[in-house]
Amino acid sequence: MDARHAVLFEPVSIGPKTLPNRFYQVPHASGFGSARPRAQAAFRAIKAEGGWGGVCVEYAPVSPDSDESPAIAADIWDDRDARALGLAAEAIHAHGALAGLELYHGGASSPNGGSRTVRLAPSQLTSGVQWGGLAKEMDTADIARIQRNWVQAARRARDVGFDIVYVYGAHGYLMTQFLSAYANRRTDGYGGSLANRGRFWLETLAAVREAVGSDCAVATRIAVHGDSGVPGAEGLPGIHADDMLTLVKMADDLVDLWDVTVGSWPEDSGTSRYFPEGHERPWAHRMREATAKPVVAVGRYSSPDLMAEVIGSGAVDLIGSARQAIADPFLPRKIDEGRLDEIRECTGSNMCILREESFNHIGCVQNATAGEEYRRGWHPESFPAPADPGRPVLIVGAGPAGMECAVVLGRRGFTAVHLVEAEPEIGGRLRWTRRLPTLGDWGRIIDWRAVQLAKLPGVKVITGRSLAAVDVLDYGADLVVLATGSSWRGDGGQPGYPDPMPGADPALPHVLTPEQVCAGKRPPGRRVVVYDTDGYYVAPGVAELLAADGFEVTVVTTFAVLSPVSDQTLEGDMLRAHLHRAGVAVQHATTITGIGAGSVTGQCRHGEPWSAACDGVVLVTQQASQDALYTELAGDEPALAAAGISRLYRIGDAVAPRMISEAIFDGHRLAREIDQDRPAQPAPYRRERTDLR
Ligand code: ADP
Repeated sequence: MDARHAVLFEPVSIGPKTLPNRFYQVPHASGFGSARPRAQAAFRAIKAEGGWGGVCVEYAPVSPDSDESPAIAADIWDDRDARALGLAAEAIHAHGALAGLELYHGGASSPNGGSRTVRLAPSQLTSGVQWGGLAKEMDTADIARIQRNWVQAARRARDVGFDIVYVYGAHGYLMTQFLSAYANRRTDGYGGSLANRGRFWLETLAAVREAVGSDCAVATRIAVHGDSGVPGAEGLPGIHADDMLTLVKMADDLVDLWDVTVGSWPEDSGTSRYFPEGHERPWAHRMREATAKPVVAVGRYSSPDLMAEVIGSGAVDLIGSARQAIADPFLPRKIDEGRLDEIRECTGSNMCILREESFNHIGCVQNATAGEEYRRGWHPESFPAPADPGRPVLIVGAGPAGMECAVVLGRRGFTAVHLVEAEPEIGGRLRWTRRLPTLGDWGRIIDWRAVQLAKLPGVKVITGRSLAAVDVLDYGADLVVLATGSSWRGDGGQPGYPDPMPGADPALPHVLTPEQVCAGKRPPGRRVVVYDTDGYYVAPGVAELLAADGFEVTVVTTFAVLSPVSDQTLEGDMLRAHLHRAGVAVQHATTITGIGAGSVTGQCRHGEPWSAACDGVVLVTQQASQDALYTELAGDEPALAAAGISRLYRIGDAVAPRMISEAIFDGHRLAREIDQDRPAQPAPYRRERTDLR
């Protein structure tokens, strides 16, 4: 280990417990909850194995009036829930780490779709995140009951082995609703002054401490109000930093570990597009003004030097991480062993959050094994050795799918893998994506794989060579994997209109694809329409690029808001504000059906004719697989047999255009399963089901 990083490996006492080092995986959702306890346990255990000294499970609602369905949370409503969660505590302990559980109540933000109980809140308020009915103003009996539920949950957590129990006070949930003068309009002893607004939180902390404080460390997660200056990041009005610090002083005796978040969730889990690593430091580090107790703060830290600097400053005691710990569960071990070039850095794209927001279990664009530890038995750092490592494998195309497939085959111990790429650089679509404004950190997907590929003796990377079918047949490979990807259709085919759009021809000077724009093609005049039926990052990225070049840009989108997918990565409001400031205009809910010289025509949301004058159109409509090579080879079995090719596969966008994370997953999966019986079809994965005995 580099001596500079030794500080990260010092033990830290938190109340009655001692963390073995300063790496702390803060609570974050997994989609496994207490309903899928084995997947939960395996997902958390891998982090403990990778060296995280503290590992927390996600938000654990203490009662059915904080029911998160259809999301899956770590409900701890009864002993059976607790036993399910206890599997995670046990698995975390097996690797010497401490286990934490984030006891939680959502208050007005709880969906309660399954429990059908009324929402509870300090005042009768409507939730910014839940539609359908206001919350009930909690009476004193409700307050006492929720506090009892919290204590019962803490006892259950302790009894199944958790070392750290939380009183979750951040992110706009029940505790914050009490603390916030905006949400708390009570006139009794739980509302009004700061001390009164803090009473519910302080009483709950005291009750939990009294119940389990000699057995467990008591942590609380709070939010200090950030002021990132990033338009769109503000979220629900929070508690101003100065007020929060006053509350911290009031509660300090009751707390063993302060878990600090900053501002709204979009700010706290800020993406790399708008927030640099460590962006929360100015706010989170003010905690030292109020407490000498251990403090953990996040910041999407992936640089060991920066981590050591943050700890060295004395402002915080633990490096908190959710996203980086998902991207690389073995980060602490790699730092410990000086294997810094193996750290798989988080891209800050919030793909993990997108999956959670769409009610999927956890996933990660960088780490295809995240969430698959139990389900598929995948380990991020260990790979089954092949029976016949010398089989020559040819992978055509070094995009996300091809790169990942080659890395995994190399790590498995295959000794004769060739990864052949037509372009001078590897990376596929990421070659141009990483050059779009604000998306530079997505390039980490290429960078990590480039570094690993260079270290794998069994893999040879050949760039600048485009392979035709005859070249593949002559190559001398036994297994062939086609990862030839996809490209944007320039013909305007789009959802609901599969045929080419009249006038859409990217050979014309005024019709462009995103790839052409990134390669330098520009429209003949200043006014450009970027037409988006895709809904994610490509249209905003191209629009911003062209606006920066001085073009007058209008994004015409079929969606009701620009880039709706970005709402699921918590970037939507920021992205829209960002483009607005860049001078990009937006025309919503509009379909373009024709391109003429100097104009586009179509229809507005009400079905009425719509048109706009413009000098050029960028079509962000649909992608198409580059599958000609596959079709040609797969259609000539005798030629494959004569060439000695025993199996032909395709992966990634060459099968169907998808998100980058799914192309990587596809490449990873095939590489793991390539020597199984029918690798073209994914092997069945383990599902946790109710036992029907
Ligand atoms: P994916 O996300 O599925 O990996 P991409 O479209 O990002 O797909 O990348 C596909 C890569 O394959 C591109 O870099 C492209 O240049 C390369 N490629 C496509 N066809 C060939 C070919 N015939 N020979 C070599 N490389 C190819």
